[in-house]
Amino acid sequence: MARAVRCARLVDVVGEQVLTDQLIVIEGDRIVSVGPDRDFDGETLDLGDATVAPGLIDLHTHLVGVAACGDYAQELKYSAAQQAFASIPNARDTLLAGFTTVRDVGTFRAFIDVALRDAIDAGQVVGPRMAVAGAYVTVRGGGGMLTGFAHDVEVPPEFRFGETRSVDDVRERVREIIFHGADLIKLIATGAVLANGTVPGAPELTEAQMRAAVEEASWYGRYVAAHAHGTEGIKMAVRAGVRSIEHACFLDDEGAELMAAHGTYLSADIWWADWIREVGPSQGYDAEQLRKNDETAETQREGFRKAVRAGVKIGFGTDAGGFPHGLQGRQLATMVEYGLSPIGAVKAATLTSAECMGWEDRVGSIAPGRYADLVAVPGELDITKFAEVEFVMKGGEVIKNTLRVSS
Ligand SMILES: [Zn+2]
Repeated sequence: MARAVRCARLVDVVGEQVLTDQLIVIEGDRIVSVGPDRDFDGETLDLGDATVAPGLIDLHTHLVGVAACGDYAQELKYSAAQQAFASIPNARDTLLAGFTTVRDVGTFRAFIDVALRDAIDAGQVVGPRMAVAGAYVTVRGGGGMLTGFAHDVEVPPEFRFGETRSVDDVRERVREIIFHGADLIKLIATGAVLANGTVPGAPELTEAQMRAAVEEASWYGRYVAAHAHGTEGIKMAVRAGVRSIEHACFLDDEGAELMAAHGTYLSADIWWADWIREVGPSQGYDAEQLRKNDETAETQREGFRKAVRAGVKIGFGTDAGGFPHGLQGRQLATMVEYGLSPIGAVKAATLTSAECMGWEDRVGSIAPGRYADLVAVPGELDITKFAEVEFVMKGGEVIKNTLRVSS
């Protein structure tokens, strides 16, 4: 039985315009048509004067792991089962915030994300559609490892699944991670802000290692996302053929132009530095982490501006998990502050992110054949309202509706 959603305003992310008085017709979990409002003979949900957009996509989440805490030793205080159960509210909060799809880019303890994805798909857990990375491919002691321990303390093997030492070895890591159920490969190309002892600007994987990872992944129809802060590490990853650059804290004009030329997507978490500054000291972030956060925040935002100017494909990635899940909608306003139009920001968090994932045939736009994944905010398009959407539909099912509609 077909049903319909009636809305006063609809963000058309393909045409980059706001359409008025639209009717979205849904059958099962999919959209069958969208067009000007008309008489509809069937169950109709009227969203009043709200602005409707496609369900949002976050390209960079960590639904599994110890949330909002700077102390990596916390990871060793919980069992795999505890971490799996603790990810359930994270998945729910993400969906309630309007993120109907996420690309989850790594867990320190390997493959809990694969289990969470499967539990959501099986209807056992409420959460977003997930593409998962399984484990980090990283050098020993690098940005994808639990770091900060004494040199003679050995981290358990399930936290070192993606540890790699050579070009041949990186192929093995990639293959095994895919065999265990990953949808994509996450490389840690450079040091990280929160991994003590690592240097965000320094390359960790070589270009040859990254090229091998990209090739190996492609044989299984998978692509590679690269965590890369440093100017040189970004360029090495782009030349190696990765699909997206994560973070890009020290992106220069040459790097932005290289990304545009290669069609590499940018997934830059330009909001959460504000959150670390605000609550970091009370949340256990130490002085080294806070210093690196300050150093990277403004350069990252200026790099984002450069990328927009250079015509880089801008996706939407937030690093949720570093901050509480469900707050990531706040980043849309930051992206407008640093160079995107409001519609451009919505497009980044929907269509462009779907394209980055290779999922544009099923999510990212309100069009026939796509999942009926929708969000809405009251009244006209105001990007700050995406910090807390008032309506969420996933696969035709209303997950949240706090819109006040007078009938
Ligand atoms: Zn991350």
